[in-house]
Amino acid sequence: MKKVRVRFAPSPTGALHLGGVRTALYDYLFAKNQGGEFVLRIEDTDTARYVEGAEDYIQDSLEWCGIIPDESPRIGGPYAPYRQSERRDIYDRYKNQILKTDHAYLAFDTPEELDAIRKEYEAKGEVFSYNYQTRKQLKNSIALSENEVQNLLDANIPYVIRFKMPIDRTLNLQDIIRGSFSVNTNTLDDKVLIKNDGMPTYHFANVVDDFEMKISHVIRGEEWLPSLPLHILLYEAMAWEAPEFAHLSLILKPEGKGKLSKRDGAKSGFPVFPLNFQDPETGEVWKGYKESGYFAEAFINMTALLGWTPANDKEIISMGEMIAEFDLQKVHKAGARFDPQKAKWFNHEYLKLKSNEDVLILLKEIEEIKAIKISDEKLLKIVSLMKERASFVIDIYNDGKFFFEAPTSYDERALKKAWNDTTSAILKDFFTILETIDFEPETLKEAIHHFAEEHSLGMGKVMMPLRLALVGELKGPDVPDIMTIIGKEETLARIEKAVGIN
Ligand code: GLU
Repeated sequence: MKKVRVRFAPSPTGALHLGGVRTALYDYLFAKNQGGEFVLRIEDTDTARYVEGAEDYIQDSLEWCGIIPDESPRIGGPYAPYRQSERRDIYDRYKNQILKTDHAYLAFDTPEELDAIRKEYEAKGEVFSYNYQTRKQLKNSIALSENEVQNLLDANIPYVIRFKMPIDRTLNLQDIIRGSFSVNTNTLDDKVLIKNDGMPTYHFANVVDDFEMKISHVIRGEEWLPSLPLHILLYEAMAWEAPEFAHLSLILKPEGKGKLSKRDGAKSGFPVFPLNFQDPETGEVWKGYKESGYFAEAFINMTALLGWTPANDKEIISMGEMIAEFDLQKVHKAGARFDPQKAKWFNHEYLKLKSNEDVLILLKEIEEIKAIKISDEKLLKIVSLMKERASFVIDIYNDGKFFFEAPTSYDERALKKAWNDTTSAILKDFFTILETIDFEPETLKEAIHHFAEEHSLGMGKVMMPLRLALVGELKGPDVPDIMTIIGKEETLARIEKAVGIN
C-alpha cells in the first residue's frame, strides 16, 4: 500500500483561523492514525496577499497546539524547500511538461482587454467566462496561427498559461467525506496555471507539489471543493495518479448560520485564533486562545470535536487517543456550530484534571499573584478550593480576591439579604468565640453550628453575614475554609470592620 502522506498547505495571508487549525489537526490525526507523515507546506505564491509574520505565526501556532509536522520550512525534510516561493525551478520544469501536452495553451489577452470583454457581456446581461466557447475568439495559441504566436513571443508580449478544459465531459468525482458527485466540464472555465510573471497560480503549484511531495490524501476546507475537478484534470493531464480527497465542512457562527469569522469573535468576546495576532497593516491585535488562558490540550480537544465525534460520544480525549480513534469516514458532512461556552467548558474540565501543584505553578505566573506575599502552602489550599469552580487559572485569582485582600465594599443586594438590625450584635457575640478557638475548618464549622443552635438562630443568620464580612458578597467556598486560609487575625479584622456597618 501507498505510504500515507498528508499536507497542510496554508497561505501566509494572515493569522491561522480556528477552521485552519481544525484542518491541520485532521490532517495530522489522519496521518498519524495511518502511521504516515504530516507535512507543512507554505503556499506563498500570491505575493499581493502575503502578510509579514504570518508564516511564523502559523508555525508557532501549530507548535503550541502540539500539531508537529514531520516536514516543514522550519524542520526541513526530503522534499525541501517547503515554501512555494522557493520552488520556482520545479514549477518551470512542469510548466514545460504541460505545454507539451494538448491540455494547456498560451493566452496573450491583457487584463484591460479581458475587462472590456467582461463589460460587453455585462451590458448584454451575460457573464463572461474564458472557456471552451469563448477561447476560439480570444488572443491565444488556440485561436491564433503558429506564426502569430511566434511574433507575439518574439515581441516579448506577456502571456499566461491556461488550462484547456475538455469539452462536455462528465467527471465522476469522489470525496471521502461527501461521497461521489459529478460535474460537467462545460460548466468550468480555462483557469490560469501560470501568471504573466512566470509564477504558478495556486492550482498549478498545489497539484505539482502534492505530486512531488508524494501526498496520498488531501484533506482541506470545503472552499476548495470547486477546484477539485480542475485538480483531478491536471493530474490526468500530467499522467499522474491523483491523491484521495476529503473536504471539511465549515465551522459556523455560534448562531448557527454563516462561516465563523474573526469579527464574530471580536464582537462576542471569544478568540478565533490560537495565538494573539497583530495585523501588521492596521496594528489591530486579535486575541488568541493561549493568551486568553486556554490550555493547548483543551483548545485542541474542543477543535477536534467541531466536526467529528469519537466513540461512545466521549468528550474529553487526549491527542494520543484521538490519533488512535480518528476516522475520516466519520467526519461530519454538515457544518459545525462553534459554541464559545463549550470552549470554556473544555478548559474547565482540563483545569480540573490538573494537579493542584501544577495549577499552583501557573497561578504563580500571574502578575497580580507575584506582587502578593503569600506562602505556597496557602496558595495550594486556595487552588484546591477554587479549581473546581474555575474555567481559567486567572479565575482562581479573580474569583478568590478575598483570599488576598479584605473587601473594600459590600454588595448591595447581598447586604439586603444578609443583614438586619440584629446582625451586628450576633457577629459581635460570635467574634468573642472566634477569639478563643483554633482556626481549623472542622472546629470552626462546629463553633458556628453550636453558636447558631445556642442562640436559636437559623444557620443562614450566622453564615450569610459572616460570608459578607469576609468576601463582600454572598459567594465563594465554605466560610470555615475561607477563615482558615485568611487566618484568625484577618478574619477578626474583617468582622470588626463589618459590624461597623450599622
Ligand atoms: N493554500 C491553500 C489555502 O490557503 C491550500 C488549499 C489546499 O489545501 O489545497 O488554504
